[in-house]
Amino acid sequence: MRALMFVRPGELRFDEVDAPTIVQATDALVRPIAATTCDLDHHVIQDKTPFSPFGPFPLGHECVGRVVEVGPDCTGIQVGDVVGVAWHIACGTCEECRRDHPARCLLHGDAQYGLPVNGLWGGTFSELIRVPYADYNLLKLPDTVNPVHLASIGDNFALGWETVMPTIAGMSEPKIGVFGGTGSIGLYVADVAQHLAPGHAIYYDDDPVRTGVAEKLGIEVRDLREGYDTDHDLSVDATCDPLKLNKVLESVRPEGYVNSVGIYFKPVEIPLLSLYLRGVNFHNGKGQARPAMTPILENVVNGNLHPEIVTSGIYEWDQIPEVLTSEDPGHKPIFSLDS
Ligand SMILES: [Zn+2]
Ligand SMILES: [Zn+2]
Repeated sequence: MRALMFVRPGELRFDEVDAPTIVQATDALVRPIAATTCDLDHHVIQDKTPFSPFGPFPLGHECVGRVVEVGPDCTGIQVGDVVGVAWHIACGTCEECRRDHPARCLLHGDAQYGLPVNGLWGGTFSELIRVPYADYNLLKLPDTVNPVHLASIGDNFALGWETVMPTIAGMSEPKIGVFGGTGSIGLYVADVAQHLAPGHAIYYDDDPVRTGVAEKLGIEVRDLREGYDTDHDLSVDATCDPLKLNKVLESVRPEGYVNSVGIYFKPVEIPLLSLYLRGVNFHNGKGQARPAMTPILENVVNGNLHPEIVTSGIYEWDQIPEVLTSEDPGHKPIFSLDS
């Protein structure tokens, strides 16, 4: 089969590699229908992460696909199912998985598709992937939804839910600030925030394309260069920019919450005294994806969320290397196989 490989910064190519097979009885094999980039992938390609020296490795950890084979112990997932795929490799039954922390799975730790972390598990820009613990890591999609725009449901789109809903649960009329920047994540968060806190959610950014998308999502949009409110109950940092992170940290009310999804590979200076004086609950960490995929899907099916507005373009599979190494790959390019 063909697998897209990250060779070195700025260089991607398709290699012929052995197709994966069922190894454990709980595995499934999935052929992608559509795959897309995590915002992190753009940083990998642009040499902004520590992964540069490890090429070639299969890239990609977001896709929807069709199940083409299942191991004998799969009970919930069947051949032919159209599924969303969680980015992480998680057993679903260990203590951390049961706490809804599959990205901390005690059996597989940081393992995931598309990056050389705790083994190589293939990439979602390949024609076939092996999904361990398929009953847990896959989410069956109903045929009433177009799977293509759900290519991100196993990672960036799921972050939209998990950075907002658990934090505001129980708050009455929470005010939410969403600070965009990495590409798609802030926009998915904006979609969720606008749905959960209509009239009380604001998207801040300084990029005209992303702010245009946010406007289409119906959320109030402000140019970050013109300031920001400082009374949000929750602000989500999807900026991946140390200077902007400082603004996000200042944007919440005393004892408010900041959830940060930007990955900062270098130490960042933050105003701890100011955080101390106001009281800020700050969380920075990997997305846990799988638990959020179910409510995300329900809200897409119900028409509450609109991932199709976030999609920046739909391309053919063969265009992956060309688009992803181009000057402007777009904030959420989706590549469809067999289109
Ligand atoms: Zn990711
Ligand atoms: Zn586990």
